[in-house]
Formats: sequence, structure tokens, C-alpha cells
Amino acid sequence: NGNAAKAGKTRNFVEKMEESGKNCIIFYGSQTGTAEDYASRLAKEGKSRFGLETMVADLEEYDFDAMDTLPSDKIAFFVMATYGEGEPTDNAVEFYEFINGDDVAFSQGGEDAPLDNFHYVAFGLGNNTYEHYNSMVRDVDRLLTKYGAHRIGNAGEGDDGAGTMEEDFLAWKEPMWAALAAHMGLEEREAVYEPVFGITVREGLTPQSPEVYLGEPNKMHLEGAQKGPFNAHNPYIAPIAESYELFKVKDRNCIHLEIDISGSTLSYTTGDHIAIWPTNAGDEVDRFLRVTGLTDKREQVISVKALEPTAKVPFPTPTTYDAIVRYHLEIGAPVSRQFVSTLAAFAPTEEIKTEMTKLGSDKDYFHEKTGSQLFNIARLLEHVGNGETWDKIPFSAFIEGLTKLQPRYYSISSSSHVQPKKISVTAVVESSMVVGRQDPFRGVATNYLLALKQKQNGDPEPSPFGLTYELHGPRNKYDGIHVPVHVRHSNFKLPSDPAKPIIMIGPGTGVAPFRGFIQERAQQAREGINVGRTILFFGCRKSTEDFMYESEFEEYKKALGDKFELVTAFSRESSKKAFFYVCGDAANMAREVNTVLAQIIAEGRGVSESKAEEIVKNMRAANQYQEDVWS
Ligand code: FAD
Repeated sequence: NGNAAKAGKTRNFVEKMEESGKNCIIFYGSQTGTAEDYASRLAKEGKSRFGLETMVADLEEYDFDAMDTLPSDKIAFFVMATYGEGEPTDNAVEFYEFINGDDVAFSQGGEDAPLDNFHYVAFGLGNNTYEHYNSMVRDVDRLLTKYGAHRIGNAGEGDDGAGTMEEDFLAWKEPMWAALAAHMGLEEREAVYEPVFGITVREGLTPQSPEVYLGEPNKMHLEGAQKGPFNAHNPYIAPIAESYELFKVKDRNCIHLEIDISGSTLSYTTGDHIAIWPTNAGDEVDRFLRVTGLTDKREQVISVKALEPTAKVPFPTPTTYDAIVRYHLEIGAPVSRQFVSTLAAFAPTEEIKTEMTKLGSDKDYFHEKTGSQLFNIARLLEHVGNGETWDKIPFSAFIEGLTKLQPRYYSISSSSHVQPKKISVTAVVESSMVVGRQDPFRGVATNYLLALKQKQNGDPEPSPFGLTYELHGPRNKYDGIHVPVHVRHSNFKLPSDPAKPIIMIGPGTGVAPFRGFIQERAQQAREGINVGRTILFFGCRKSTEDFMYESEFEEYKKALGDKFELVTAFSRESSKKAFFYVCGDAANMAREVNTVLAQIIAEGRGVSESKAEEIVKNMRAANQYQEDVWS
């Protein structure tokens, strides 16, 4: 990575720790920002509770051959997310390749246990619905141990699949801190909040001053330049050539976008992902500024400076509170219990402080009070604050405590063979009713895309939800509708030989990449290329409501003929379900089929295994499940 090298910074983390007087480095491998967020939280807690001199470090900014020189009185944390099919996150690829390499060369040469002095702590972020659950932290833990390193505490595992990530993290870290305190001889002290970022008001500047950042994705854009390479640090502001609705119902939306990348150096191949950089909804920005007492200061120009040498301000400054909140902080995400604890100290009254402290420290109470409403930070402060303004919270606490607003990924739904400079996106708009709340929960990026589509088409009722969007900055000088994007290459690819048959299973928006695959094969067939059988299983609620691309599939059928087969299932069209027939070996096969069917029912309907067994039994009784088996 050139960034650190260019700035003349060292890529040797042991040197870096030495230079900046740190005894604890917290590495993160993060794709969507959660691991990075956890790393920052650990760094903060380590400092405030135990006086550790912590620094947070992006794995891609350092080399690892000097790992064997880390003195034994220092500690390294690894907060590792597993991405996709057991892959490292983009920023952890180099580290993982190094430590997992066949002949790892540490700087002092190889004995049996080159990392004998190296002490570490490990936490993984994974999703148990994937086969390779938390494989990244497991691999890193195994490899470090293999080279003689010593782990302190357990290697924690958080599970996004079960929705328990935050609680898994909180439950893991207490015993970990106890083990680390014992190992390093640390004394716990009364936690004191020390801001990481200092805010100064820039009296001489106004939001009109050219150097003031108002939401342009980075400094380059501030200077009026769209310069590549366009990547996860620098999006391309792409024109939206076309946008339209795919569903035929009023209460749900699925947006199709055609994003024009012809003015950039971006390229893609069929099956890649595109990242969309969203903007927070105006209503949520207003809510946040109101409850924190910043409404009157929203346009005030401020500079944000890191008060510690190893901290980085995650956006360009000078800027305004409005721009930071609108474009840079994930203000829509559910609030973490730990953050609630941190903010208790700044409550407007003693009574509210007591309530916040209880919410922060008592898991059951927190779930009882906030459970199904899924509060974001501003909604929680409103709810607990009873109309009081939370103006004692230092703004630094929000920059530290909230995740950076993250780009969202979408499977590209077009073929690069057919349209190399135009990327299709198929996005279902996230808007779900929540128990105990007047309004539905609305996803950040998809409602932003909906607003872009509505603006582009001059829809008569812009935003049915009354949300307002300041679309990519008030100084937007682009004609027409644009969206900031970058492309992420993936391994999800058609076979290189078009004659090979393919089977695709993609219900709902799961069909997105397959539209690209089929578009490609239809074009190949038109070009006279021999194309193999192309079978798509697609499901949705009703053929008259959310059967997306129905007429397009008919066009593909014309080009592909018998080679294209579309198998559909509409879950709300009929209560009549299929009949099951099982024939053959009774002892193993038939019993297994029964068990697996019950498991599928249990998972699919969210019922217990015994309830699912009962459902299968009822299917048998109704002759919906028939067997002709023998042993
Ligand atoms: P977010 O604001 O991120 O919310 C998403 C979810 O988080 C909600 O459903 C909700 O359950 C939960 N949540 C977050 N905050 C709260 C809160 N405060 N209260 C309640 N619930 C909350 N999507 C597609 O539609 N089409 C695709 O082709 C597609 N491809 C993808 C490919 C990849 C590789 C990946 C990783 C994801 C893909 N997705 C796709 C999903 C997509 O990236 C987004 O996650 C999705 O569109 C929702 O984004 P959002 O910003 O609208 O919602």
C-alpha cells in the first residue's frame, strides 16, 4: 500500500509503537466498519480503564515480518472480520497471505518458536449462517500459536447470523480485560473520558469558503478534481443514466439503476460488486442535531484535530457539524449498549444519568426498554432524555463512538460483455415496520437510492416517507443525478466455457447477479456462440407484485430458446404446497430426508425442531409426505 510509504511513514508497527510511546496496538480487519469500530472501542476502554497506551491500526498499513521484535511487555490485538466464503476483508489480505504463507520469514530469522515474545488478544466477527464461520480469527489464532505466540484470554467470536454480535463482544471482553490486567500487571481505575478529537470554531470561515468541506467524498473532490484510481478510499461520482421501479405494488419498492462509468477508469466483469456511498436522510440528520443541541450551530465552520499522534480524523476539515453528521457518521445504525454507558456521564440530569447507566450496564433491562424498537443513537437519546437536550456530550464522543458511514455493496446485475461501461443495480428498499414504533425502520442506502430515483423521474410524490436528502453535497456541480461508487471485484463468475451448463438459485434480489449471467449468455447465443443449459430458480411473493425482470426473461428466452429454463415459486399465491415422495433405503436415506426437512422447516419458519417434527408428522397424516421405503 502506497499511502503510508508516500507520506514517509514507517510500515514497521513495532517501530511505530516505540516512536509514539504505545504499549498496545489494536489491528483490525474490517469490511463494513464494525471490526474497525470494535477496535476503536477497545482502544478507548484500554486507555480509560487500565491506562494502556493504545493505538488502532489498519492491517493494510503495516508489514508483519517484524512481529518477532515486539517486546514481551507489549500487546497486540487482532479484531478480525470474516468476509464472504471465509475470506479475509480487503484490508487484511496482505497480512493473511503473510502469516498463512508457506515460508513465513520473520525479521530475526526462524527458530522453532519465532513469536515466543509475542502476546496477543483476538476477537472475530462472523456469521454462523456461512459455512466458514469466523474462520479468519480461528486461522489467525492458530497460525500465531503455531509460531509460538501467546494468546491472552479466549479468542472471542461474535455472531452476526444470530444477531448477537454486540452481546458476544461485550460478554467476551470482560474476562479478556481481567486476563490482560493480570498478565500485564495493570490496575483498573475509575474510567475518565478523554476526547480523542479537539474541535475549534473557525470564525473567519463560512460554509461558502472554498476550503470548507461540505460533503464532497474527499479532499480531491474538494479541489474540484475527480481523479482516479477510484476505490474504497475515493469513490467516482457517477451519473445515473436511468432508474426505475421493478415492483408493481405501492407499499414495497425495488429499484433498478443504470450507473454510467464511462467517464472514469472503472471497469467490471459480470458477477462483481458495486459499492454505493450513501447520504443520511435529512430527517434523521435533523433529529440528531436537535437532540444534541447542535441545530443552531449546524453551519458553523469547525476544524477537527486528532489530540493523539496515532489517531486520524476520518474526514477532511475544516467542515461543519451538518456535513459530518450527514455524510460521515452511521447515525441510522442500532445504538450499542457500551456507547450508552459512555454517554451516561453527559446526561442532562442526574435522573437521566441513572437511567442511562442502568441501560448501559444491564443487558436484560436494555433489551426490555429498547428491544424491538431498534433505536438509533438520536432516537435513544430522545427517548431516554424526555425532551431534554444532550448538549453536554463532547462532539468527539460521536466521532469516536459511532461507525463511519459505510458504503453498501450490491451485486452487479448486468453483464460486462453486453454493457461494459454501464453497471446495473437491483436494490430492494429496506423499510420494515417495527413493534412499538410509529414509523418503519428505513435502511440508509436503499432509501437514498429511492430518493435519487424519485428525483430523477420527477415522481409526483417524492419520498413517500417524507424524508429529505441533501444529495451528495450542496456544492454539487454535476448536471443530473449522480451517485458516488466504486467497484469491488469478486470471484463469483460464469464458467469460462459458455457451453457449460449452469444452475442458479436466486429468489428476491438474489436474482441480481443472475440477471447479469443470463444477459451475457443471451447475447452470446445471439452471436452464434454455443451456450449450455441455463437454469434459474426464482421465487417471490406474487407473480403480479414482485416478479422482477419478468418481461426481460421472456426476451432472454427468445435468444436462448430451450437452453434457458426459469423455475418459479410464488409463496403468497397459493396455500397449496408441493407433495413430497420418498422412495428407497428406509434405515438411512429416508430418515435423513425426514430430519433435514424438519430442520429446513425449523429454520425457515423460525420454530423449534420439535415443532418442525410435528409439522412433518401432520404432512404425513395429510398424505402430503408419502414414503415407499424398505430396509
Ligand atoms: P441499513 O441501514 O444498512 O440497514 C440494514 C439492516 O440492518 C436492516 O435490515 C435492519 O435489519 C438492520 N438495522 C440497521 N440499523 C437498524 C436500526 N436502527 N433499526 C433497525 N434495524 C436496523 N441488496 C440488494 O438489495 N441487492 C443486491 O444485489 C445486494 N447485493 C449484495 C451483495 C453483497 C456482497 C453484500 C454484502 C450485500 C448485498 N446487498 C444487496 C445488501 C446491501 O448491501 C444492503 O445491506 C441493503 O441494501 C440494506 O442497506 P441499507 O443501507 O438500506 O440498510
